[in-house]
Amino acid sequence: MSVLEVKNLHVSIEDKKILKGVNLTMRTGEIHAIMGPNGTGKSTLSAAIMGHPSYEVTEGEVLLDGENILEMEVDERARAGLFLAVQYPSEIAGISNAEFMRAAINSRRADDDKIGVMAFLKQLDKKMALLDMPEEMAERYLNEGFSGGEKKRNEILQLMMIEPTFAILDEIDSGLDIDALQVVSKGINAMRGDGFGALIITHYQRLLNYITPDVVHIMMDGRVVKTAGAELAQQLEAEGYKGLMEELGLDI
Ligand code: ADP
Ligand code: MG
Ligand code: MG
Repeated sequence: MSVLEVKNLHVSIEDKKILKGVNLTMRTGEIHAIMGPNGTGKSTLSAAIMGHPSYEVTEGEVLLDGENILEMEVDERARAGLFLAVQYPSEIAGISNAEFMRAAINSRRADDDKIGVMAFLKQLDKKMALLDMPEEMAERYLNEGFSGGEKKRNEILQLMMIEPTFAILDEIDSGLDIDALQVVSKGINAMRGDGFGALIITHYQRLLNYITPDVVHIMMDGRVVKTAGAELAQQLEAEGYKGLMEELGLDI
């Protein structure tokens, strides 16, 4: 089992305090969701964990099996087993999607354990079929000319191929039609298992109709203000953030 612990994390952007002491712990085998109003720091949390240079960590740590990943370079974090799907996936010119995924898989493997082309392609076929993806998407340049929905689907393909220990999926559901949402959910559900944990960040309860989280965290004003089971997302849907704030006696 692996553990990812966010401890008293404070993050600023251009001297503005965004995260004000975030605490959360997740284990492999679990799917966690983070919900919270817009502007509350959810994307900041995922960006800070993955080492985006604009986000300054002023206090706290993020431990992956006891090692502070905040002291690692971004590529080291990925090799240590983290995967980040960003809200706006960037386009990378000149490298095919398949090449990227094979390189990412092999960067986490020892020299005598690299995945060969044939084995890789076999896996790729299987997973693209599950995600209803046309074969040619593997050969397209990474994210170049992909539609929003295609990019999201492709992120899930990358997730399934790279098999990280922990994935942080920020608004993986934004801009998806219902069919794409179902496909994305199917991919994430297929990843469920002892060796994998996910932190799913979303505004809406909608995604959580397809992926039942083990734990739901509510973030407000730079902190996790409540953690509970899947029923918390339902409660939020019914009562809204306002109801929850009243319950918690928060005035933000
Ligand atoms: P969420 O994902 O919960 O909607 P964000 O983490 O994107 O929230 O943003 C939290 C706060 O940080 C917001 O007030 C937002 O305006 C601010 N912020 C986010 N990114 C930047 C940035 N690059 N520069 C300045 N302020 C930012
Ligand atoms: Mg936002
Ligand atoms: Mg966001």
